[in-house]
Amino acid sequence: MRKFTHANAKTLDEAVLLLKRYGGKAAVVAGGTDLIGKMKDEILPSYPEAVINIKTIHGLEFITEKEGELQIGALTRLEDIATNPVVKERFHALSEAAERTASTHLREMGTLGGNICQDIRCWFYRNPGNRFPCLRKGGGRCYALEGDNRYHSIFGGSVLEGCMAVHPSDTAPSLVALDAKVVTNRRTVRAEEFFDVGVCRTTVLEPDEIVTEIRIPEPPEGAKSAFVKFALRESIDFPIVNCAAGITVEDKKVTSARVCLNAVWVKPYRAVKAEKAIIGKAITEETAEAAGAAAVIGAKPLRDNGYMVQIAKTMVKRSILACA
Ligand SMILES: Cc1cc2nc3c(=O)[nH]c(=O)nc-3n(C[C@H](O)[C@H](O)[C@H](O)COP(=O)(O)OP(=O)(O)OC[C@H]3O[C@@H](n4cnc5c(N)ncnc54)[C@H](O)[C@@H]3O)c2cc1C
Ligand code: SF4
Repeated sequence: MRKFTHANAKTLDEAVLLLKRYGGKAAVVAGGTDLIGKMKDEILPSYPEAVINIKTIHGLEFITEKEGELQIGALTRLEDIATNPVVKERFHALSEAAERTASTHLREMGTLGGNICQDIRCWFYRNPGNRFPCLRKGGGRCYALEGDNRYHSIFGGSVLEGCMAVHPSDTAPSLVALDAKVVTNRRTVRAEEFFDVGVCRTTVLEPDEIVTEIRIPEPPEGAKSAFVKFALRESIDFPIVNCAAGITVEDKKVTSARVCLNAVWVKPYRAVKAEKAIIGKAITEETAEAAGAAAVIGAKPLRDNGYMVQIAKTMVKRSILACA
């Protein structure tokens, strides 16, 4: 590991000031379960000059219901979200996603803010010692296009015109399905607009911007949400594909639906065609199956990941059926 300056920020203002001072050359650390591994492995050509610890800021760890919303502080640990009775009962997609993330140890360290701000997964990108200076690192090519791409995007490249990496967060699709908002020290952004496909970034955050909380509207009467995940191992494994659905049913018919896949594209993939396919219908095996098929219309799998299309279909179907 290379040398860097470490600062314990006591307030949000102090953290923002430090980020400004280092002008894009500092990184925020929360639980550190993603960032520290990346730094140890030296996967990037650039290295943060400073790491600003935000866990020392009081008041960013909470779960509370207020003003018709569930409000969750960015530093709230995934384990606390997974076990919170209110989240479990009324925001089930999120509690399930938190519970299915990594292992107990990682959930005890990892925060919700860190989970949605984590970096992409691609084994070329994450190879220690920056062995593959790919497109996303400012290089000239994407190694996944010709190399082993069994865990890469099935919906084409990002605006980088070729980066086939996927966004691995388990909580992100739940937040999109629940129509959450991400609050930062500067603004409030809808969850589905928070994720980005730009060069070397996964979110719209500016270098001096910090996520402070997540707000989720109280679900209306008749609403249910669910999260499903397909991974190779039951414990400690990133998703091959995951999916969250938030569905409202009135008189046995679906009146609103939000369905979001993840790990299939460079950012969470809202399955709008699946939503349209289920609206106005009762949730049955057949209608959920049709929604699953609609979700993958336009999929462009690579040489090694055609199998993910079928899994995505099934994840959409199961998440919808779980809302019945
Ligand atoms: C073995 C292993 C298994 C894992 N399995 C899963 C899994 O199954 N599913 C899954 O979703 N994730 C998984 N992860 C990824 C990661 O550990 C979790 O996503 C965790 O929630 C990250 O949170 P953190 O607080 O530790 O983030 P950190 O490592 O502290 O930060 C991650 C990134 O977010 C930024 N950041 C953190 N907080 C903020 C904030 N408030 N505002 C702005 N930027 C911020 C940091 O600068 C950094 O770039 C796994 C990690 C490991 C090591
Ligand atoms: S998929 Fe993206 S991160 Fe992976 S090698 Fe290609 S450009 Fe790099």
